[in-house]
Amino acid sequence: MEPASDSNLSSPLRGTERALQLHLFPVSAGQGEEEETKETMPPLWRGVSEREWNDWRWQLRHRITTFEQLKGIIDLTSEEIEGIKHSKGRLALAVTPYFASLMDPSNPNCPIRRQAIPRIEEIRLSKNEMVDPLGEDNHSPVPGLVHRYPDRVLLLVTDQCAVYCRYCTRRRLVGSSERSITQGNFEEVLKYLKSHRKVRDVLLSGGDPLLLENERVEEILSRLRALPHIELLRIGTRVPVTLPQRITGGLVRMLKKYHPLMISIHFSHPKEITDQVRRACGELADGGIPLGSQTVLLKGINDKPYIMKKLVHELLKIRVRPYYIYQCDLAMGTEHFRTSVATGIQIMEKLRGHTTGYAVPTYVVDAPGGGGKIPLQPDYVVSKGRGKIVLRNYEGKVFEYSEPNIIEFKKARPTGEEKVFPKKVIA
Ligand code: SF4
Repeated sequence: MEPASDSNLSSPLRGTERALQLHLFPVSAGQGEEEETKETMPPLWRGVSEREWNDWRWQLRHRITTFEQLKGIIDLTSEEIEGIKHSKGRLALAVTPYFASLMDPSNPNCPIRRQAIPRIEEIRLSKNEMVDPLGEDNHSPVPGLVHRYPDRVLLLVTDQCAVYCRYCTRRRLVGSSERSITQGNFEEVLKYLKSHRKVRDVLLSGGDPLLLENERVEEILSRLRALPHIELLRIGTRVPVTLPQRITGGLVRMLKKYHPLMISIHFSHPKEITDQVRRACGELADGGIPLGSQTVLLKGINDKPYIMKKLVHELLKIRVRPYYIYQCDLAMGTEHFRTSVATGIQIMEKLRGHTTGYAVPTYVVDAPGGGGKIPLQPDYVVSKGRGKIVLRNYEGKVFEYSEPNIIEFKKARPTGEEKVFPKKVIA
């Protein structure tokens, strides 16, 4: 167990900072405008000490999981009440007090609230939706392992998350038992990897791997690191966003031992980037861990170019490189979150060229059934002709680029010099 003294108390949020984090990045009033909201700490947690609030185990133990708790902190709409009623057996409801404190209690369109509170639309299934949209179960040679690409695997180490996102692709798995991979299954995974030496990259995911205690995460990382052909370890997590208290000095010191190690963090909206999140990402970055973001494109949450632009700019400021925007998968009961692909392409159109290249993620569709990520972008090629290509830039200006139409070959002269002979080729 990690000592209690290591629970992020090195840089706790003081009372005023904690109150302030509640009114950062409210739902915008208009295009690109951010107006301060005036939420205060919900009465439920007013008596909670700073020490408790900044302790990730306290946060986990006090997650909101019932209608009664929720109605004590937000004004639930009839759509939400019905959604909560029907969520049992579909996807568990759980929200950390920290993440709940970011919700706008009176605005059902609050992006934090929309992601975490079930709505009645979840029970409406579309004919295109699938239980396992990415075909992971069909690519699982041993329990907990998904092997879809030749050189990398996905290792699902737990089914628990700090907050259950209503659009989760793995809703068939997460939150059902809140258990981690058994030792027996982990040994099976290691045995499989030992006999598959082409695998050079292991991505730990779940659920959220950082909900495991440090000792368990370290055991998993160290045993994978001991396999000589595993070059890269990666962790996919949402904990820095939904439970930033989990990012402690002890965790970072442990993770640093297993470089090269990269972390992909699931962010959805600029409102998620609070002082706590800045601190958490700062500690991970100071630990030398490259950080990338993964964002699911969500209708009514982040499907406007100005919101996505604000998000990618805020991410760069906290040293997280925008990595992927995902088209929302065809998971059961998530159609109300899905946008058209054209919406995603339009967002990319407004990013590429209009801002720093590092701020521009790759927009992908994870092909249904397990085809892997397919990148999509606006079409910048106007036409292709013999020896030339006509392109447009981000402003719509058209440019012609001449393709090379010679090849060069070198013939040695008796002097030892080389002469270059150009030769025409058909482009
Ligand atoms: S954190 Fe990831 S795995 Fe967990 S519920 Fe959200 S999307 Fe699903």
